[in-house]
Amino acid sequence: MSVQVSDVRTALQNNQIVPNFQPIVSLHTGALVGFEVLARWQHPEIGAVLPENFIAIAEAYGLIGDLTDQVSSKAFHCAPDLPAPLFLAVNLSPAQLQDPNVPSHIANLATSASFPMDRVYIEITESALLDDLDSAKAMARRLKDLGCRLALDDFGTGYSSLAHLQALPFDELKIDRSFVSKMTTTRESRKIVAAIVGLGHSLGLITVGEGIETEEQADMLLSLGCELGQGYLYGKPAPAAQIPTMMSTSHISSSVDATVKSWNI
Ligand code: C2E
Ligand code: MG
Ligand code: MG
Ligand code: MG
Repeated sequence: MSVQVSDVRTALQNNQIVPNFQPIVSLHTGALVGFEVLARWQHPEIGAVLPENFIAIAEAYGLIGDLTDQVSSKAFHCAPDLPAPLFLAVNLSPAQLQDPNVPSHIANLATSASFPMDRVYIEITESALLDDLDSAKAMARRLKDLGCRLALDDFGTGYSSLAHLQALPFDELKIDRSFVSKMTTTRESRKIVAAIVGLGHSLGLITVGEGIETEEQADMLLSLGCELGQGYLYGKPAPAAQIPTMMSTSHISSSVDATVKSWNI
């Protein structure tokens, strides 16, 4: 579909950008540990439009801040009953790392929805670090000071150096779907995943496999020591109305905090 910037503006004005929620589980126990918040444009005629059709335009035309506000504010408001220690993971765009107001802004949105900041993960893609490491560092520090935890998203697809990883206070490494989807058929992908898990652990980070679609992938990730998983095998991104169903079909784990603490090296 061909989306114009005026369409995205209208969508924001009409409050049509909404959060979907995708479960993240403990690979060890299968327990639900949190949800990633993923933007959907609820178009009156077309239905749910995917981010690939509007995020890049929002970024290019300075609308990504408003979009993040709309998605995260709605997500926090949908989820005040989410029991601890379940977390919400919100995506930030590389462009937003340059805006010093973003951390306090997110904190305000969470606070006004009574959602605790220590159960908010902020996901930053690896490519974002390349643009401006100093801004990324300052932003990461402010987010951590406000109580958030940080995840490095789509790891393995960008070009971040090990020095970047060390310089930034990440808590979690998300292994990109491109490796996970090939790991049961390609030896190289399996080796890369093993190396990423090992790297994550040696830096004291929790690791998450993205895009898990088969039991075989889940088993292999678990055997490599990866803690958390996300993918269609556990659930597709779904509207807020389905949170209770997603919660009732899963049990809830308190293992994430314990795991993170035990690696406090
Ligand atoms: P991401 O942050 O890496 O999110 C994971 C993407 O993988 C989501 O696509 C999700 O639907 C998809 N996915 C999860 N499990 C599976 C699986 O088992 N198989 C397959 N084939 N796909 C799976 P989605 O929702 O289309 O989002 C794409 C990207 O758009 C996200 O990648 C993120 O970078 C960006 N995005 C989404 N929402 C937001 C937002 O609110 N703000 C910003 N800045 N970016 C967002
Ligand atoms: Mg993400
Ligand atoms: Mg990702
Ligand atoms: Mg991605």
